[in-house]
Amino acid sequence: MPLSVGIVGLPNVGKSTVFNALTAGKAEAANYPFCTIDPNVGVVPVPDARLGRIETHIKTQKVIPAIVEIVDIAGLVKGASQGEGLGNKFLANIRECSAILMMVRCFDDPNVIHVSGSVDPMRDIDIIDLELVLADADTADKRLKKAQTQAKSGAKDAKAELALAERVYAHLGAGKPARTLFGAPGAPNSDSVTRGDLSPEDRAQVATFGLMTAKPVLYCCNVGEGDLPNGNAWSDAVRARAAKEGAGVVVLCGKVEAELAELAPADRGELLAAYGLKEPALATLARECYRLLGLQSYFTAGEKEIRAWTIRKGALAPEAAGVIHTDFEKGFIRAQVYSVDDLDQLGSEAAIKAAGKLRMEGKDYVVQDGDIMHFLFNV
Ligand code: GDP
Repeated sequence: MPLSVGIVGLPNVGKSTVFNALTAGKAEAANYPFCTIDPNVGVVPVPDARLGRIETHIKTQKVIPAIVEIVDIAGLVKGASQGEGLGNKFLANIRECSAILMMVRCFDDPNVIHVSGSVDPMRDIDIIDLELVLADADTADKRLKKAQTQAKSGAKDAKAELALAERVYAHLGAGKPARTLFGAPGAPNSDSVTRGDLSPEDRAQVATFGLMTAKPVLYCCNVGEGDLPNGNAWSDAVRARAAKEGAGVVVLCGKVEAELAELAPADRGELLAAYGLKEPALATLARECYRLLGLQSYFTAGEKEIRAWTIRKGALAPEAAGVIHTDFEKGFIRAQVYSVDDLDQLGSEAAIKAAGKLRMEGKDYVVQDGDIMHFLFNV
């Protein structure tokens, strides 16, 4: 399963513009057999300079970067959770995503109508949060009712489940997104009433509730081209909010991203420089998703392909092997490991081995970001 991120936002904030720009390079979904082939799903390669470094030393047929799937989730408007309700497809789409990319309009343009009449990212975020919170409250209510029934029957662990369901329901009922109940990784523990005081077991339990607002959020501030690269007062306000919530932030300009997307990568330098940018926002965005979700990459490298694989930080070697194939995890024996730095210094796997730097690691090895690995397994 590739990492997938769903784009949500009010109408006319630039979702389609950015989605199209992100996916214009068309890393063909067909090249990634495990990817969903759907017009609303774009495949974005995660830029990683280490792949190029490996390729200078190891001749290969193809280089395959890690990818993020970006899902364009249309249909969120004020009041969406009432009346018709948020469509089932909409809810299912968000539930399947690992994280939510919340696109917020931080550009002023009299030619582009704002659905709420003025540019105000804080209000817009509140509107979206509220719709998702209301839909989540429904979900939590069902869970609560089930927990109440189970508690009456005296089922094991039912009391703890009930207490947790009550707490989550009350939190959502107060209009607060579930993510503020436990904060995202790295969130400052500034508000102990609403954050950070759930035990790891309770967090894991809440994760099974299927709440949309429990997912990590990446705010994507769409600013005017004159406000690149650092943004404006609106995006600064979003940044401050994100810091409190432990959310991520990316500042970009949809229009500029669209222009960049039309150029071949080698021809983008001048335009990037004109706006003071180091790279297209898509690169920043893919990296932020990784950080937010606590992910990292390891590599496999050989004559057939050099490839980046996505794993959790802290993953042990068998789990990392399982990303390639479940058999690799089940039959894991050991891993041969070296680093990109070793390869740069010594120039080949044989030289690394000769220098005694090819390590043999077992089941308890915590995989490090950028490890180059070869697995030995038995099925
Ligand atoms: P969506 O409804 O959120 O998908 O919004 P669209 O991507 O369709 O954008 C709505 C309008 O805003 C379009 O006319 C875009 O050309 C315009 N737009 C998008 N991004 C920018 C931007 O960065 N600056 C300006 N001035 N207009 C933009």
